Amino acid sequence: MSDNNLAALPTELLHNILSYSIWNTAGEFRVYTAATTGGRPKLWTNHTYYTVAATSRHLRNIVESFCQHLIILHKSTTKLLPLTKKSKNRTPNRIRWVKWIAKHCVFCGKGSTCMALMYNTIRCCRKCDKKEWPDKITMTAALNNYNLTKLDLFTPNVLYPENPFPVLRFGIYDCMGVYTTMFMKDEVEERAGLIHGKDSVEDQKARRRRRTRIECSMRMAVVGGRWVQIQSYDAQFRDKTDELHTLIQQERAGLPKSGIEHG
Ligand SMILES: [Zn+2]
Repeated sequence: MSDNNLAALPTELLHNILSYSIWNTAGEFRVYTAATTGGRPKLWTNHTYYTVAATSRHLRNIVESFCQHLIILHKSTTKLLPLTKKSKNRTPNRIRWVKWIAKHCVFCGKGSTCMALMYNTIRCCRKCDKKEWPDKITMTAALNNYNLTKLDLFTPNVLYPENPFPVLRFGIYDCMGVYTTMFMKDEVEERAGLIHGKDSVEDQKARRRRRTRIECSMRMAVVGGRWVQIQSYDAQFRDKTDELHTLIQQERAGLPKSGIEHG
């Protein structure tokens, strides 16, 4: 058996592992190395298929056969043809595949510079994004329609340091110069159910008011989906630390022990 454990796996299993990076465009981030080719800087990309293929001749052949399979399977969308012995263009299948997914919408095949809002490694045009993920809502709608606060949407935080909830997906996009945060509607509904249980609307609104007070007393803000310290507001928040601590303790005292089940 080979010393290389990955190379020792059966081809079917290796293809299965490679399938997790089919639409991944993370490798499009390019860096120029010091080496030059023909007077121009050499372009290097770090897509999984390139790095795996670079480890050994056997794994390179595995990646090539898998990318050939992808090109044949999706040729109606990509318009690519697999590499054959008679092909004049000798560019390897893996390079042709990665270059295509880096520049085209994976659903309609048209050229696009946008990424899918909820999966930021997949190239997807705005039209297909609306079609494939139709039930998205803005953060404002999520907060107002379900009586939630940012403490409920962005976890972990001071109220939920253990982060007992499933991951809540979100996407940020530039809407005419204004950054807008979007969530999947069904996931927000599920989160609201975990937070409020079967409480009446009045109780939900009261909970929202309490948590909004905590938010306003915190020296933190949500940036890119994470809570970060605000350094420049020290004067405004002076002497509020004790009040914030009390508010958090009161709110946490009302949480169920599991943090999920609503008592
Ligand atoms: Zn599209």
